[in-house]
Amino acid sequence: MKDTSPGTFRLSRRNLMKFGLSAGALGMVPAASTLAKTNNVRGRIVIVGAGAGGIALANRLARRLPLAEITLIDSRTAHTYQPGLTLVASGLWHPNDVMSQNNRWVPSSINWIQAQVSTFEPESKRVVLSNGQTLGYDFLVVATGLQVNYDHIEGFSHDMIGEHGIGCVYDSRDNAMKTNTMIDQWINKGSGKGIFTLAPTPIKCAGAPLKMAFTTLSRLENTGRRDQYDVHFYAPGNRVFGLDYYNDFVKQRWDDQGVTRHDFHKLVALDAPARKARFERTDGTVHETDYEFIHVVPPMSAPDPVRQSDLVWQDGPFAGNWLDVDQHTMQHNRYPEVFGLGDVIGAPVNKTAASVKMQTPVVEENLIAVMQGQALTASHNGYTSCPLITGIGKAMLVEFGYNGVMLPSFPFIDPKDESWAVWVMKEQMLKPAYYAMLDGRI
Ligand SMILES: Cc1cc2nc3c(=O)[nH]c(=O)nc-3n(C[C@H](O)[C@H](O)[C@H](O)COP(=O)(O)OP(=O)(O)OC[C@H]3O[C@@H](n4cnc5c(N)ncnc54)[C@H](O)[C@@H]3O)c2cc1C
Repeated sequence: MKDTSPGTFRLSRRNLMKFGLSAGALGMVPAASTLAKTNNVRGRIVIVGAGAGGIALANRLARRLPLAEITLIDSRTAHTYQPGLTLVASGLWHPNDVMSQNNRWVPSSINWIQAQVSTFEPESKRVVLSNGQTLGYDFLVVATGLQVNYDHIEGFSHDMIGEHGIGCVYDSRDNAMKTNTMIDQWINKGSGKGIFTLAPTPIKCAGAPLKMAFTTLSRLENTGRRDQYDVHFYAPGNRVFGLDYYNDFVKQRWDDQGVTRHDFHKLVALDAPARKARFERTDGTVHETDYEFIHVVPPMSAPDPVRQSDLVWQDGPFAGNWLDVDQHTMQHNRYPEVFGLGDVIGAPVNKTAASVKMQTPVVEENLIAVMQGQALTASHNGYTSCPLITGIGKAMLVEFGYNGVMLPSFPFIDPKDESWAVWVMKEQMLKPAYYAMLDGRI
C-alpha cells in the first residue's frame, strides 16, 4: 500500500506520550465492571449480532454474570473493523488490516450459535433462527447493526461495486478495495467527472462519505492536475453534517477546493454500463448526469427481521425502520426485558463504534438491574465521535451527543482544528482501542 508520509508514524508509548494520548486519554483503562462479578444473578440472555456491540457486551456480561446462560447468535465468523474501510478505499491500508476472526473475540464461556435470527417474537420471548431452531430467552439484546438497502437505488446492486466506476465504502473489505481501484482508474484516466453522494436516511458513520470525498480530493490534488477533474457532491437535503460548525466548514472547504455542490438531490437510479446517475430533486424534478467515478451511499435501516417485528418503532421519525428503545437507558420502550445496542437503534445521533463503546456499559448495567428487579441507573448521553478526515494527513476530532452538545474527551485537542495528531489517532490508535472494546476491557 502507499506510503502517505507523514502517516509513516508508528504507534509507540513514546509517541503516545508525545501527543498526550495516553491509554487513559483513549479510554483504554479497565472498566470498573470488569472487576465486579455479580454472583447471584441467573437467567437466559440472548444477544443477537456478534459485531462491535454484541461481542463487547458478551465479554462484559461473561465476566459479570458467571451463573447466567448467555447465547450469542450470528452466522458471521469474520470480523471487519469497519472504521478502517475508508482507509482501505482510500488506498492507505491493506484490506487485511481490517480483518480478524470472531472466535478470537467471542468468550469461550458463552454459547455462540452460528445462525441468523429470521423472526423476533417478543410476545412469546423467543427468536426463530435461519436453521429452523427456536430459542426462548428471559432477556434479549438486539445488536444486529444495520442493513444497507442497495435495492432502493434502481438499477444498483452491491455486486456492481468495483465495476463501471462505482465505489461504495459501506459494503465489505473487498468492495472497499475495489472502490480504491475505481478511484485509481479515474485518476489514471487523467480527467472526467467524479460524483460523491449522501443517503436520505440515517447512516452509520455519517462522516464516512465526506472522508471519501476529502481523501479523493487529496489524491487528485497530488497529481498536480486537479483542474482536469470535475468533482461534484450531491446531498438529499441542504446539509452535509449534523452540526452547524462542521457543516459550514465542509461546505466552505469544498467551495475553496472547486467542488460543485448540489443540495436537495437524492440518488434514485444508476445506469451502470452507461455510467449515468439519476437524482430526484425535492420538488420532484429529475436530474440526470454522467460520471467517470461515483461513490454511492445507499439508504440504510435496521435489518428486515427487526423491521418486520413488533420491536420496531411504531410511530415518529423512526417508525418501521429502527429498533424502538429509550435513547438514554437503551431499554425497549414496550418490552422491558429487551435492550438495543449499536447501529440498529432509532435515536437522533449515534451509529458509530464510538457510540457502541459508550452504550455497552449502559446496557450492561441496566440489563443487570432488570435481572435483579432494580431501577435502571445508567444513562447514555448520545455520545458519538468522528475523526473527520479533511485530507490525507489531517483530520478534526468531532465529539458530540444528543441535542448537538459537544463532548470533547481531550483537553489538548481543539475540536475545531484540523491536525496531524488527530489523523494519527484515526489511522493508528483507534483500532487497538476498538479491539480493547471488543474484549470488554474499556
Ligand atoms: C465505512 C465505515 C466507516 C466507519 N467509520 C467509523 C469511525 O471512524 N468511527 C466510529 O466510531 N465508527 C465508524 N464506523 C461505524 C462502526 O463501524 C459501526 O457503528 C459499528 O460497527 C456498529 O456496531 P454494531 O454492533 O451495532 O453493528 P456491527 O458491528 O455492524 O455488527 C452487527 C452484527 O449483527 C449481525 N446480524 C445482523 N442481522 C442479524 C440477524 N438477523 N441475526 C444474527 N445476527 C445478525 C451481523 O452479521 C453483524 O455481525 C464506520 C462504519 C463504516 C461502514
